[in-house]
Amino acid sequence: MRGSAVVVGAGIAGLATARGLLKAGWSVQVLERSPGLPGTGTALGMWPEAMRALDQLGMGERVRAASVEQRGARLLRPDGTEIARVGPGRSGRLVPRPALLAALAEGLPPDVVAWNAPVTDHGALAAADVVVAADGVHSPVRAALFGVAPRPLGTVALRGTVPGPADGVTETWGPARLFGITPHDAERTNWFASVRADVLDSAGAGCDDPETLRRLYGDWHPDVRRVLDALGDNPIDRRTLIDVPPLPSYVQGRTVLLGDAAHGMAPNLGRGACEALIDATALVDALTGGSDVPGALRRYDVARRRPTTRTVRLARLANSVSTARHWLPVRNAVVAAAGRLS
Ligand SMILES: Cc1cc2nc3c(=O)[nH]c(=O)nc-3n(C[C@H](O)[C@H](O)[C@H](O)COP(=O)(O)OP(=O)(O)OC[C@H]3O[C@@H](n4cnc5c(N)ncnc54)[C@H](O)[C@@H]3O)c2cc1C
Repeated sequence: MRGSAVVVGAGIAGLATARGLLKAGWSVQVLERSPGLPGTGTALGMWPEAMRALDQLGMGERVRAASVEQRGARLLRPDGTEIARVGPGRSGRLVPRPALLAALAEGLPPDVVAWNAPVTDHGALAAADVVVAADGVHSPVRAALFGVAPRPLGTVALRGTVPGPADGVTETWGPARLFGITPHDAERTNWFASVRADVLDSAGAGCDDPETLRRLYGDWHPDVRRVLDALGDNPIDRRTLIDVPPLPSYVQGRTVLLGDAAHGMAPNLGRGACEALIDATALVDALTGGSDVPGALRRYDVARRRPTTRTVRLARLANSVSTARHWLPVRNAVVAAAGRLS
């Protein structure tokens, strides 16, 4: 089937959907409130299923060229001793967010994305065959359709990049906080911290300044201290972490939710953007392989809602376990045993 789609949001989900539908001969208009693609951003882990989705969209090789391979990760205690190795046989890629978005936007006809075009009433878009709501975790479209707002996880994420390459992927778990280090590209290191909100509040007034980070992590192992020493004036991105409660459907009428709008999740499994890409290819397959829009949207909902709802739940659990305040030796022993089984 061919038709017309209006996509709200030129993030990962929106651009991927637009790419796939255009390739299949659909007419597509993307409306994005920002003035253009972001120039800065941290690295995103891309798991094999997401790389397959990118291959399907014709962008796999382009993204591989802009990314570094990630093979497993080490989970450490603050003193640098190992709790577990995670996914040693599983290989993914780490790609800077701006590089991923640039790849998804590459070669799109210039009039496909309208920048500086905030959608204030998605009902006004009803002339299109399908309205794709890819408007992120705070999705106004989701709020209008289902009255569902995101819920807080009780943690805050801080992240950024510093000069110098990183050797592998580590996540260090201490009481009520964690610190992650990954490659960003060949020349920079990507770092992220997740902290219980009340612990961050009591650690410093500015909360996201290097001094607060040093108070929280300054006595952790040398790899963490190396990142703290390199923070300089590099920007620190601060997010209060939230996720989206389970929805009764990802579809209402001809409007369909994708990516974080449907299933925004804690970042602890590194899966939100991956699921957004898989959503996009699932929706494109359903629409282009079907003969009517309502049937295609139903198939998309059946294919994507249950697995992504489960991932949101697991990510919430991972967020809570990784920033636990008490019983850390027990937690670490359980995680180590799980790591040996994986
Ligand atoms: C700290 C952190 C680390 C993460 N790490 C990873 C990782 O390693 N791997 C991974 O897979 N995922 C990761 N994620 C998750 C990932 O960032 C998200 O899942 C992903 O960005 C979702 O893409 P999206 O396109 O659905 O939403 P968004 O990226 O939020 O895009 C939504 C777009 O819609 C636009 N928009 C919103 N409202 C309107 C409107 N009314 N009109 C027009 N435009 C609008 C916005 O401007 C935006 O461009 C991480 C998230 C965080 C917070």
